[in-house]
Amino acid sequence: MTLNKKFPQRISRLAELSTNLWWSWDHRGRSLFRNLDYPMWMEMKHNVMGILNNIDEKTLEEKAEDPQFQSQYNEVMRAFDDYRKLENRWYAKNIAPNTSIGLEHPVAYFSFEFGLHQSLPIYSGGLGVLAGDICKESSDLGLPFVAVGFFYKEGYFTQRVPPHGWQESDFIETELDDLLILPVMDGDERMKLRVKLADSEVWIQVWLVNVGNVKLYLMDTDIDDNDPWFRGLTARLYGGDHNMRLHQEMLFGIAGVSLLEKLGVQPSVWHLNEGHCSFISIERISRLTRNGTSFEKALADVRATTIFTTHTPVPAGHDRFDIDHVAQKMQDKITELGISREEFLKLGIKPDGDQRLFNMTVLGIKTAHLVNGVSKLHTKVTEEMWKTLLEEYNDRTKLIDITNGVHLPTFLSGPMRRLYDKYLGEDWVDKQDDKELWKQVESIPDDEFWEVRLQVKKRLLEQIRETARQLRKNGDMGADQILAYGVFLNPEALTVGFARRFATYKRANLIFSDLSRVRKLFNDKYHPLQLIFAGKAHPADEPGKHLLQKVYEQAMDKANSGRVAFIENYDMHIARFLVQGVDVWLNNPIRPYEASGTSGMKAAANGVPHLSTLDGWWAEGFVGDNGWVIGDGKEFEDREEQDAHDVNSLYDILENEVVPMYYDMEDGISKRWVRIAKRSVAEAIPNFSATRMIKDYVHKMYVPTIRNFEKINS
Ligand SMILES: *Cc1c(COP(=O)(O)O)cnc(C)c1O
Repeated sequence: MTLNKKFPQRISRLAELSTNLWWSWDHRGRSLFRNLDYPMWMEMKHNVMGILNNIDEKTLEEKAEDPQFQSQYNEVMRAFDDYRKLENRWYAKNIAPNTSIGLEHPVAYFSFEFGLHQSLPIYSGGLGVLAGDICKESSDLGLPFVAVGFFYKEGYFTQRVPPHGWQESDFIETELDDLLILPVMDGDERMKLRVKLADSEVWIQVWLVNVGNVKLYLMDTDIDDNDPWFRGLTARLYGGDHNMRLHQEMLFGIAGVSLLEKLGVQPSVWHLNEGHCSFISIERISRLTRNGTSFEKALADVRATTIFTTHTPVPAGHDRFDIDHVAQKMQDKITELGISREEFLKLGIKPDGDQRLFNMTVLGIKTAHLVNGVSKLHTKVTEEMWKTLLEEYNDRTKLIDITNGVHLPTFLSGPMRRLYDKYLGEDWVDKQDDKELWKQVESIPDDEFWEVRLQVKKRLLEQIRETARQLRKNGDMGADQILAYGVFLNPEALTVGFARRFATYKRANLIFSDLSRVRKLFNDKYHPLQLIFAGKAHPADEPGKHLLQKVYEQAMDKANSGRVAFIENYDMHIARFLVQGVDVWLNNPIRPYEASGTSGMKAAANGVPHLSTLDGWWAEGFVGDNGWVIGDGKEFEDREEQDAHDVNSLYDILENEVVPMYYDMEDGISKRWVRIAKRSVAEAIPNFSATRMIKDYVHKMYVPTIRNFEKINS
């Protein structure tokens, strides 16, 4: 937030650069800060604000005089300035000429979490990382785009796993000075919003995160003007009980709309990411009815400019509140809308569902003219689940599939990037969705490809050892945990990665169903298989924590010979090392519970083939020779039958295909392995990059919505 020192004139723009996350996904930007102070870069996990606050003045002065650093600095600043010329970007050239909408009418994107960088802990998992990737790619393509979220001072939790394997979670206050968030001002004073929330008044302060060309505004209630309970309202992501969650979501809606108004932003498109944000629509409708518009007309106008993304394929996974609770807290709004309590509640009750529950997804769908699922399979499941709702209006709510994608500059390893630079041309970044181009991955010499894969795997294992060394040194790791942390993993051995939220449907311990069978793989003297786990269970998810404990027991068990590892405190930092460095990415959710999944896309783009059940993105991503399918997509009523079927298939594939193929060496290279790894790159990048995803959003959802906005305002 604040930098506590003056920078030498020659490199004075480092301060400016540090508060724009662009540096984190541009390799030149990253490398500049890495070169500034390498040990600190490692120790502080790339937290650039922290580094600049802690670096000593002498080092800065030396760097300012170092010709090599100077020229690197100049190049980065040139690239940064260039990047911000919107007229050169895709949107300005391809979309803007065909609309009458200017920059003052951007897309406004709302999400409860944003995963942008490990140093800004306001995300818990896939949903947040997707929101972060959407901001970054919208910036890269030059969309007029603003985003709104919450600032959580205590973030999501920090995970520790003691020897008994029962996860401990700590909510730790982040050091504000070391965060790259900027206070939003109103003249000389801190900008503040006051909103009415049920029977109370709440004050909100606002932070800004520069995400390249995109501005992300974060709302925060932790200020003196508020009573303690309200100060805590935005303290933790997914931290409170039902009542707190309801208040958070109400606040998000009311304050989100007020904030944009105060900033003078008039969006043409209101994009709601999941049901947490659905009260945005209620707030917008109430502003129109307050000024005399009828409820029907207000709803129609709001709906025509709202789009909604749903992520949850299971009915119980949606955000739901008791109807009386909602009606009581929202009484004022209901009066403003000029409708009855029953009419209001109907906006959130699933027609063929529990009539006592107000469902935030129902509200989201009912107040949007376009809704999208996040993979083809998920969209089909969504269609079934919400059939009646989608048909409710005469003009029918359109359901669209836009499969998720990943922001490659964030998740691609350096060595892999350089390989693509060399063989596909350095402008591949602008051609991520060009299918023809990516066929040329075939032309990369096998030995170079293999060499790079080994190099990145080594780097992952070094990182694991280094973290373990620190933990051990600081007394945070028992001697009995050294094996479990993966300190003795072998860089020559076939390495499988499994990292994700510990939700029961993801079946993290499926591979341990038949211990004697899987241990044959771990303990093979010549061709061993090793396995790295990471992931958090939500602190209130008891079954999830039990699952994690079972996996940790295996990591601790000497019968697995140190070939099973569990890495603590999964975050974006560890995620990058893992998806880049392992040989195979394992995923075995129960179909169709995984809406999309994105970690497998990150892995595949790095040349790490996917081994997964036919769920989420893999149901469309698998084409026969770019990875493996567990259990051929068969769905069973009975959970035990399903598990038995899938695990048998998993073992068969590992024993008969994955292991023999990996170790089928010729001059120290497995050519068959390189072939499948290249195929996984060639399929993943053009089809599952964020570039493809954002262009889909623009063509299928944003442009039609902009047309509606033009009509309403003509
Ligand atoms: C990509 C990513 C996820 C999403 O992974 P899934 O495949 O959806 O399980 C979760 N957490 C982090 C830190 C990530 O980088």
